[in-house]
Parts: sequence; C-alpha cells; structure tokens
Amino acid sequence: MNTSSPGFDVVGVGFGPSNLGLAVAIEEHNAQVDSAGGRPLAGMFFERRPEFGWHSGMLLPNATVQVSFLKDLATMRNPASTFSFVAYLHDRGRLADFINSKTLFPLRVEFNDYFAWAADRLTHLVTYSSEVTEVRPVVEDGVITAFDVTVGRPTKQVDVRRAGNVVIAAGLTPHLPEGVTPSDRVWHSSELLHRVEALATERTPRRFVVVGAGQSAAETTEFLCARFPDAEVCAVFSRFGYSPSDDSSFTNQIFDPSSVDTFYSAPEDVKQMLSGYHRNTNYSVVDSELIDALYRRTYMEKVTGRQVLRVMNASRVADLAETAEGVLAFVEFLPDGEVTRLEADVIVYATGYRPADPTQVLGRTARLCRRDGAGRLSIGRDHRLDLTIPGRAGLFLTGASEYAHGLSETLLSNVAVRAGELVASMAADTIDLTTESPSEGQRPGTPTRHLKAQPTAREAS
Ligand SMILES: Cc1cc2nc3c(=O)[nH]c(=O)nc-3n(C[C@H](O)[C@H](O)[C@H](O)COP(=O)(O)OP(=O)(O)OC[C@H]3O[C@@H](n4cnc5c(N)ncnc54)[C@H](O)[C@@H]3O)c2cc1C
Repeated sequence: MNTSSPGFDVVGVGFGPSNLGLAVAIEEHNAQVDSAGGRPLAGMFFERRPEFGWHSGMLLPNATVQVSFLKDLATMRNPASTFSFVAYLHDRGRLADFINSKTLFPLRVEFNDYFAWAADRLTHLVTYSSEVTEVRPVVEDGVITAFDVTVGRPTKQVDVRRAGNVVIAAGLTPHLPEGVTPSDRVWHSSELLHRVEALATERTPRRFVVVGAGQSAAETTEFLCARFPDAEVCAVFSRFGYSPSDDSSFTNQIFDPSSVDTFYSAPEDVKQMLSGYHRNTNYSVVDSELIDALYRRTYMEKVTGRQVLRVMNASRVADLAETAEGVLAFVEFLPDGEVTRLEADVIVYATGYRPADPTQVLGRTARLCRRDGAGRLSIGRDHRLDLTIPGRAGLFLTGASEYAHGLSETLLSNVAVRAGELVASMAADTIDLTTESPSEGQRPGTPTRHLKAQPTAREAS
C-alpha cells in the first residue's frame, strides 16, 4: 500500500456526468479565484472505467437525450461557460447544423461525445482505471479533519489519498428481478450494445424476449427489430400498453433547481405525494414519439403480414430456463393465466436501475452516517452526509437521495447547479491539505489515528 501526499481539497468517487460537472465547476471556481483572489480547490476524481463513458451499452443509434441540451454540464450555473454544449458544438464545427435540426434533444451518442470532449479537457483532474474501495475518516481530538480514500488499480497497486472533502457520485446500478442471474443468454439492457455484436457473429438469432415497459425496454425493442429484421422480438410487460412520459411544461418545473429547495424543505408526506404524482416523468414510461413508432411498426406488420414485433402485454415471465441453444421463457398472460412457451436466443431484462449503494464505498464509515426514521441516509440540502462525529471535512453524496432532493436527483437536470452548490459549500469550509508542510495533525502521509466506526444511536438501540 502506498500512502501518498499531498492531499486534495476534493476527491470525487466516479467520473460520470455528475462529478464531471463538479470538475467543471471546480475548474471555473479556480479560474475565478486566480483573478479575483481566494483559495483554489485542489481536486482529483477516481473513475473505475479505463476512459470516460456514459451508459455506453445503450448508446443506440436513434436514442435521444431526455433533457434539454441547455441542462448540460455548465449552462444553468454559468451561461458563459466554455464547457457548455453550445461551446462543444462550436468547437466541433456543428453549431449551425445543430440549430438547423430544430431540436432541444440531441442524440445520446452526441451527448456522450460532448461529455467525453469536456472530460478530455480535464484530464489533470481525473485518474481512470481506479476504483475507490474505502473512505475512512481521519479523526483528531474528536473531530474529523479529513478522509483517507483507498483507491485500487488493475495493477493491484493500492493508493490512499487524503481529502478535505469526498464527493461520492457512483451513479446507477442495473437492476434485475429477484432470482434472475445474468449470463451469455440473459442480459440486462445496460449491456445491450456490448453483447449484441458478439451474438450476431456467432449465430443468426431467431427470437428475442425483451422484458419491461420503460424507456430502455422500448428502445431495446425498437433497436432489436431494426438490427435483426429476420428475427421475432417479443416485448413482454405487465401493463396494457406502453405509457407516455409526462414532459409537459408545468410538470417539467419539478426538475428546476428551485424545486430542489421546495422539495427538500417539504414534510415527508408531501414529498411522497409529489413524488407519487410525478413518477410518470421518469419511471416506467416512454417518450411518446417512440410509442408511436412502435405502434406504427406493429400496424405496418399487420398490413404486410410479416410480424417482427410481438407485443405480449398484461404478461409476465413466469419461468425461465437456459438451454444449450438459448433460453426457454414461459410467459403468462395475466388476465387468464395462459402460459406461452418461447424458445429464444436471448432474453433482455430492461428492468431499470437503482442508485449505487454508497455504503459499499464507505465501508465501515457507513456506520458513522446518521439515518432518518425510514433508515435512509440523513443528508443536508448541500448533499453533505450527517455524521456522528463532527468536523469541517465533508462527506458528500449525489445521485442517491431522491427521497430528500426530489426527482431530479438521479438525472442530468441539475448537474450544473448542484455542482456549483457543492463547490460553494466546500470552498466555505475547507481545511488546506494541499501544501507540502501542513499544520500538525494534518500532514498527509503521516500515521493518523483512525477512529473505529461507532454504532449510531439507532443501530445501538
Ligand atoms: C440508458 C440511460 C439513459 C439515460 N438518459 C438520461 C437522459 O437522457 N437525461 C437524464 O437526465 N438522465 C438520463 N439518465 C439518468 C442517468 O443517471 C444520468 O444521465 C447520469 O448518468 C447521472 O450521472 P452520474 O455521474 O450520477 O452517474 P453515472 O453516469 O452512472 O456515473 C457514475 C460513475 O461512477 C463510477 N463509479 C462508481 N463507483 C465507483 C467507485 N467505487 N470508484 C470509482 N468509480 C466508480 C462508474 O463507473 C460511473 O462511470 C439515463 C440513464 C440511463 C441508464
């Protein structure tokens, strides 16, 4: 193990859009303090992937971003930023072409390229192929002065980096129904593109089963129909039909930065009521244009008599078995219980995602996190986790507190503004760990007493 110095003001766990937006905000904060005075923030982000990637297994050819391009990494916080999507378009020589396309919603492939373009300008702030495995508080005289962040590399080398603040933005993890195990024949939609070409070189697929009725399920279904026109694609879901996402103007205001304040300060029952009313902005819903396209396809196939897309609505996969050839799915039609046996090459579960569990990164430090009455992590409006030991060093969490910050928390909507709030909170409250000769008790790389995680009051009772 290598405990290296100097430390950082901010260490980020993960380098998806959230922490990329934070890196942009740090870069712009530092440029501003250079000219206006103040202390810059030294940051470093650790990303386990070998390079930047945004849901790369679902960068399907026609899929568009579900949010206005103005909700990019910077514009909502700093409309003059050189890290905006417009600045990217200009740099790529496509600004006029994009304007002529008359859309607010770029292709996902293009937004991924935009993110990668921004990440390429911030390589001094990120280390790839580096997985954070633990975050431990450094405790001096009963106060947390810093965190030691353990970082693993493919070379098996392990570093410990000291940080005045840690921001965990570990994103989403694919979710499979209980009892379903991924395999060469059982995929989660998140790995679609990575798997599909290998399958295509190995055999000519005859049938796919796609489970789910959300955006990813509909996109997967459309993609497979187009990619394998000689196969049958069975779309299995328990709803009667795909339901449209509500992206109407009044409802969309729930994603505004100011709505986070409104939501955060609301009583718990009101939070639940609002989240319930507006779940159909994001969960188990599909973009209307895609629903129309899929319906047109089924109708056209009735006209031509050649069915590729077979919609099996009000149905569920009751049983599944892997065979030498592929998978055997038993699909139950819920209204009458009739079971259809489907031999398929592959079954794709487009059954959504869950926020990554932050306690996996925190290790034993998770026991220092206070929890609310429902057992959820207690978190401040500025995304600072509430710890049982006081201290100026901050442990921040983004993308996993929809219960506290509202529906935009896991999305791109507020990445830019939230990053600015994080920087403001950290800049106001940071001990300098970046100098080679820090004050006594803060010297990076010197042995420090790590307090054993204490049970919280709730756990102890
Ligand atoms: C297919 C798909 C399409 C989507 N489209 C939209 C959209 O159009 N609009 C929208 O608003 N939202 C969309 N979302 C929601 C999505 O959550 C956000 O787009 C965005 O990815 C959130 O960014 P993030 O950085 O929080 O998480 P992620 O993009 O998931 O990034 C997290 C990163 O952290 C890394 N990581 C995790 N743990 C560690 C660790 N211990 N050490 C080091 N690295 C780690 C991961 O490798 C990953 O790169 C989509 C989601 C999916 C799955």
